[in-house]
Amino acid sequence: MTTTSFTKKTLGLETAEPAVTPPLAAPNTTFAKKPKLPVRKSKKRDIPEGLWTKCPKCATMVFDKELDENLKVCTQCQHHFPIGARERIHSLVETCTFEEMDAEMTSVDVLSFTGVAAYTAKLEDYQKTTGLKDAVITGIGKIGEHRAGLGVMDFSFLGGSMGSVVGEKLTRLIEKATEKTLPLIIISTSGGARMYEGMFSLMQMAKTCAALAYHAQARLPYVSVLTHPTTAGVMASYASVGDLIVAEPGAMIGFAGPRVIKDTTQAELPPGFQTAEFLLDHGLIDAIVPRKEMKPRLIEYLSYLGDGQR
Ligand SMILES: [Zn+2]
Repeated sequence: MTTTSFTKKTLGLETAEPAVTPPLAAPNTTFAKKPKLPVRKSKKRDIPEGLWTKCPKCATMVFDKELDENLKVCTQCQHHFPIGARERIHSLVETCTFEEMDAEMTSVDVLSFTGVAAYTAKLEDYQKTTGLKDAVITGIGKIGEHRAGLGVMDFSFLGGSMGSVVGEKLTRLIEKATEKTLPLIIISTSGGARMYEGMFSLMQMAKTCAALAYHAQARLPYVSVLTHPTTAGVMASYASVGDLIVAEPGAMIGFAGPRVIKDTTQAELPPGFQTAEFLLDHGLIDAIVPRKEMKPRLIEYLSYLGDGQR
């Protein structure tokens, strides 16, 4: 109050502002300073709840209901959209035969990890938005005539990253399958090990593979299904050690990303590098199976491998 009345009296010829703000010399510096205010917007991706989805491959607008009925495969170009773990299990097992295991297992923030957001906050957030407890669902179900251990990963939960829960749930599944002499199917999709759990997530690579070695010792078949994308720690462990390794069309499969490889090797990468089709040509995988044919093909494989076992 007092300042305003003071300015009014003494600087009657000028505007009220200069008495408060510094004189003419200053403006340049203040102007120069002003632009550097990079407000970091929090990365939030809103998926519009529309009725149509644009196919990223052929740009056709596909009716969502049609897409769901077609197991999230584009009706025009057969592009495989990501599909949730529950939806996939539903498409594979016989109705009401799936007994889920360790459904309530959740991760603990051992490292008190804080990055852009705290790990615990991220976990809570993803659990709320996806309705999942972690990035994998495991259990035993019937596929055709065959009872089998089934582990299905979900990319929508923290990029399908493998932390201690993913590793532990899969290990328990493998051990259960070994104990009950059941074949095993793991459907992978993952960006790799979960960095929020540091060393603990890396240890899952050895743990799952050790359990798989016992499963193999019991002469039980393991079919690994690779879906878009399966990379890094998951590809470098249980996903790549199946008796049969099959992939969905167009899936990106590899360890490090193509840009990293290109920078490291300083070499031009061949076209189609790290796609399922490329890896089939080079012998890393055994077959490419479209999603809609997955169930009959898995039944076929299990029958064949089961007969071999007998
Ligand atoms: Zn399409």
